[in-house]
Amino acid sequence: MSLLCLGLEGTAHSFGAGVVSSKGEVLSNIWHMLSPAEGGIHPREASRHHSDMGPGIIRRSLEEAGISHNEIQLVSFSRGPGLGPCLRTTATMARTLAQKLSVPLIGVNHCVAHIEIGCLESGFEDPVTIYASGGNTQVIAFAGGRFRTFGETLDIALGNMLDVFGRTIGMSFPAGPSIERKAAEGVEYHQLPYSVKGMDLSYSGMLTAAKKLHLEGVPIADICLSIQETAFGMLAEVAERAVAHTKKNELLLTGGVARNNRLTEILEGVAERHGASFHRVSPPLAGDQGAMIAWTGILQHQAGDELPISDSHVMPKWRTDEQDIIWRRKL
Ligand code: AMP
Ligand code: MG
Repeated sequence: MSLLCLGLEGTAHSFGAGVVSSKGEVLSNIWHMLSPAEGGIHPREASRHHSDMGPGIIRRSLEEAGISHNEIQLVSFSRGPGLGPCLRTTATMARTLAQKLSVPLIGVNHCVAHIEIGCLESGFEDPVTIYASGGNTQVIAFAGGRFRTFGETLDIALGNMLDVFGRTIGMSFPAGPSIERKAAEGVEYHQLPYSVKGMDLSYSGMLTAAKKLHLEGVPIADICLSIQETAFGMLAEVAERAVAHTKKNELLLTGGVARNNRLTEILEGVAERHGASFHRVSPPLAGDQGAMIAWTGILQHQAGDELPISDSHVMPKWRTDEQDIIWRRKL
């Protein structure tokens, strides 16, 4: 008998609800992203967005899945990491639903969910994962019962760097897609700080230098090309070392920045050089959405995990490598 899980995602700018079966079928996946006219994301505004939009998104998700409330057998939610007010709003909806429907509640690590939905889609069993989004940039691989972070950004995330640069030159949020389009028109590469420290990365120096190029009158298309080539090259270097040292033969690209074709092309090259298979998570499952939370909720539930409501506080700083991945123990 297949089990149905409703997963709620609400760590930052997006609120999503997805229904996934224990056979791994994504029955629905509805989300909405707060996109402020100007400025960045304010945690309180984002949490208000989630409480305003949440009930409607959940209803639409159930409709699209063709099920009623009482067919949900499990409720999971993104417990962290993320912005406190957003996490609390989402957790409140998940607790209310779990209690009302008398079904188990599962707390899911957002970063782990990005990996697990990628594994579901690709059929990968044990990849090196590049997780690049608005809030995170990590190179992760499973070792000793946990998803270990082999390398990560020491300051801002790759997506955040793109969004902030885009905002400086008048692009709307999220700027990643516009930068990708502009970069395709670029002709001349301009040097930007290439900052890889061991297995870690730093993107803030590049952001400052790119803003400076803009003030100096360098064409926007050339700056976008230079940002992409430098930033993605740095990530590829760390990814390549992770693949070489772990000797894993799968490379997975997940998170919102996985929508970028140039980054995909560069990482494909890395995988090819090391005889590894490559998969880029498809656009609907790459960014923040509920299906990944639902699927990971199912994996945790099947391994015996359950979160008592009294213990279900949110964990804004919950790191990827702080959770025992009990459903993968055998690896
Ligand atoms: P997430 O935080 O996972 O929801 O992903 C959102 C992030 O992905 C934002 O920082 C976007 O700018 C970025 N993003 C989306 N599409 C692209 C793209 N085509 N190229 C680069 N970044 C992108
Ligand atoms: Mg994310």
